[in-house]
Amino acid sequence: MKAGPSQEDIRRHNLGTLLRFVHLRGPASRATLAESLGLNRSTIMALTADLTAAGLVREELPRRPGRRAGRPSLVVRPESTRVYVLAFDVGVDRLAVARVGLGGEILDRREAARAQQEVDPADLVNALAGAARALVRKAGRDAVCVGAALAFPGIVRRADDRIMFGPNLDVGDLPLGEALSRRLGLGVPVAVCNDADLGALAEHERGAGVGCDDLIYLHGDVGVGGGIIARGRLLGGQEGFGGEIGHMVVNPGGRPCACGSRGCLETEVGERTLLAHAERAERPGETGRDAVRAVVDAADRGDIVAREALHRVGGWLGFGVANLVNIFNPGLVIFGGTLRDVYLGSAAQVRSVLATSALAASREKVRLRTAELGDDATLVGAAEFAFADVLADPLQVLARLREPETTLS
Ligand SMILES: [Zn+2]
Repeated sequence: MKAGPSQEDIRRHNLGTLLRFVHLRGPASRATLAESLGLNRSTIMALTADLTAAGLVREELPRRPGRRAGRPSLVVRPESTRVYVLAFDVGVDRLAVARVGLGGEILDRREAARAQQEVDPADLVNALAGAARALVRKAGRDAVCVGAALAFPGIVRRADDRIMFGPNLDVGDLPLGEALSRRLGLGVPVAVCNDADLGALAEHERGAGVGCDDLIYLHGDVGVGGGIIARGRLLGGQEGFGGEIGHMVVNPGGRPCACGSRGCLETEVGERTLLAHAERAERPGETGRDAVRAVVDAADRGDIVAREALHRVGGWLGFGVANLVNIFNPGLVIFGGTLRDVYLGSAAQVRSVLATSALAASREKVRLRTAELGDDATLVGAAEFAFADVLADPLQVLARLREPETTLS
């Protein structure tokens, strides 16, 4: 017979649940916590005392006291400036590093444009580590980094965070997470994840997808990535390679793709194709988000070529979405990265193809939305991923960080 959870297991679970609540929803009174978590007030008090002692939350009088007579319920607030993670976003055309506090606030950030050419892995690690160390130096002396994660536009093996395929950004065999973690010397590992998976996570927890447990996030960079949340969990498949929506074939006779196939969604709706259709592919210096936005702006102003380009791309995007709607029956499809602009410029076409190609039962309730977190979706997702361990077992993670051999650098 399997033994049930011990008192200690329950306490650890509850500590994580309480911390997660204030991390995602913001400061909450003891009364609200008791009601929302289904725990009694004395349990909340004991849990809060433990988290306060660990420096993860603090309790204070409410800023706007209620009208009721008597002692107001203390408000539990995450220690946002003291407890933080490092989030890295390696885009094809930009690098971003942020220090994100418990509670989700971006406390500080650095960003740099990146030329879309060959990348030297050592240079990449140097640039990321340098920016991160500058952010860490500006944090208070008592601030503690509890995790780090990096969003990467490629296929990442879950077992060892190894990048298996980055068609638009080749870093070879480099174990990016390990190399970066060593250079940071903070005693925290750096998890490496697919950027669109992290975008999905971020929109689910903090963006357009809050409250929707079955959603699909489509992320446009030079390529197209996808993240699928099913029943509240990220769908990765056997080894974590799942959700590669960009390589779903929508046009078998279409353009060749970097993956070796033809007519993948990303070859039909990606930045290069849009710019080629819009007769802007040859314009020097016009690439990335700005170039995509320029096409959408031109179409808005009545430019026929730009309109036609968006119409064609929107049609393929519609086929892609129709397939996804038929297979996963999502409540929500979210367009992020450059696809946010592409969708805004071609929504009518996407919806029209969806109406003719998706099963009526599945398409009836699906909502199409743009990413609420905008360009920060993948960065915010990296931060959320980095917080996962401390939210699952707060005291254990802090104890591990305080072991002398891991705090040295
Ligand atoms: Zn492909």
